[in-house]
Amino acid sequence: LKQLMGSQGATLPPHVLIFPLPIQGHVNSMLKLAELLCLSGLDITFIVSEFGHRRLLKHTTVVSRFERYPGFRFQSISDGLPDDHPRAGERVMDILPATKNITGPLFKKMMVEKNLFASDTRRPITCIIADGVLSFCGDFAEEKGIPLIYFRTVSACSFWACFRMPELIEAGEIPVKGSGMDQIVTSVPGMEGFLRYRDLPGFCRVNDINEPKLHILKSETRQTTRAQAAIANTFEDLEGPIVSQIRKHIPRIFTIGPSHAHLKSRLAEKKDENSILSGSFWAEDRSCLDWLNAQPPKSVIYVSFGSITVVSREQLLEFWHGLVNSGQRFLWVMRPDSIVGEDGKNQIPIELEEGTKARGYMVGWAPQEEVLNHEAVGGFLTHSGWNSTLESIVAGVPMICWPYFADQMINSRFVSEVWKIGLDMKDTCERKIIEKVVRELMEERKEEFLERAENMAKLARKAVSKGGSSYSNLEALIDYIKTMII
Ligand code: UDP
Repeated sequence: LKQLMGSQGATLPPHVLIFPLPIQGHVNSMLKLAELLCLSGLDITFIVSEFGHRRLLKHTTVVSRFERYPGFRFQSISDGLPDDHPRAGERVMDILPATKNITGPLFKKMMVEKNLFASDTRRPITCIIADGVLSFCGDFAEEKGIPLIYFRTVSACSFWACFRMPELIEAGEIPVKGSGMDQIVTSVPGMEGFLRYRDLPGFCRVNDINEPKLHILKSETRQTTRAQAAIANTFEDLEGPIVSQIRKHIPRIFTIGPSHAHLKSRLAEKKDENSILSGSFWAEDRSCLDWLNAQPPKSVIYVSFGSITVVSREQLLEFWHGLVNSGQRFLWVMRPDSIVGEDGKNQIPIELEEGTKARGYMVGWAPQEEVLNHEAVGGFLTHSGWNSTLESIVAGVPMICWPYFADQMINSRFVSEVWKIGLDMKDTCERKIIEKVVRELMEERKEEFLERAENMAKLARKAVSKGGSSYSNLEALIDYIKTMII
């Protein structure tokens, strides 16, 4: 070991390998974790896909930002998919088998050939922090005896519902029964009474229990228990009761979120102005901030469905009519690859672009954290991705949820029924309903929602400030990683 580490080995900090599933939302939150660890002086090797790395180089200053941390390195690897494979819509799920079958063996080879990334100035990898859905990292860690921590980029409620999948199946609650989507589910402790079949993570919507996606998810989730610890991007005041359920199976779980707010808080302590770390795979159109500057306070509903959701032309028009008829101002993000039409047409309908000019503004990709924190924004029509949900919570912005798939289905239920900071319109997409919920959030019940959202925002900020739960848990996590040095 001494030979590997050079003469200064004993004084070198722990060296952590961070490996997110290479899609936008997962990379975003794990980059934030990486910077948090860098701030504490740890060395980091961050694995990113070749596809993602090219995008980061093209659209962000991430690479130069990390240059100020001498212990940080990016390492790219294939995500197992051809470059032209769609990385949006349901086909994004192809990345799970692709990483397992192709990236997994490449990763193993790379780790061995590169001597666990050891050099004169860096220890060999002290521990692996892997995305909870990359079980091949667990296999490798076990084989080599390297400590392993799983990072869950999804909400604790989603993780816990997935964890209970075997019990849900055994109880006959999956697949859906005759009583339908509104059947109350009873096999997820802590969620009795309000969780319906329709709120279960999207992967549970199967007709046949032998569906491969159900099984991949079941096994990837259950194997989390083999890690020495887990990290969750949430905070105790938000999901404490659910985290307590998970603790019965994974006793060492560090809740350190919301990671973006946590990073901001730590940078502010160091009087660092450069506080928003953008890991965007698309070019951010900052002109929307100028447009927002010209709007009255809390008057704009921000509309964005994240990096994966795709909508049909028909759905798009329903949203547009609903928004226009609601009479509210709106800022709408429409990714170039977000519209699926028949015969390959995926252009934004021209009537929509033209008609938006009166009260709306449209961009291909927004600097979302900045947008949500802009004083003109009073609501968020979201697909309920976990990063978006946390970003909205921290900014104190109430939500209208239109979940598309995966964890979004359960996040939206918690937003509306548990935290009561928004409305859930899952499984509907009609202009009349959209108009109604937008009016409700932005006009009729505006004060009530804003007040509750602001209270939750305060709790989030408290969690990531000195002495707060996430703040203390990050210290505990770092101390724990330090104990791993041989
Ligand atoms: N995002 C952004 N600009 C946009 C839309 C999204 O920067 O115009 C970011 C957003 O801030 C979030 C991430 O992309 O951090 C999306 O992650 P999320 O978990 O919400 O959804 P996913 O894309 O994984 O479905």
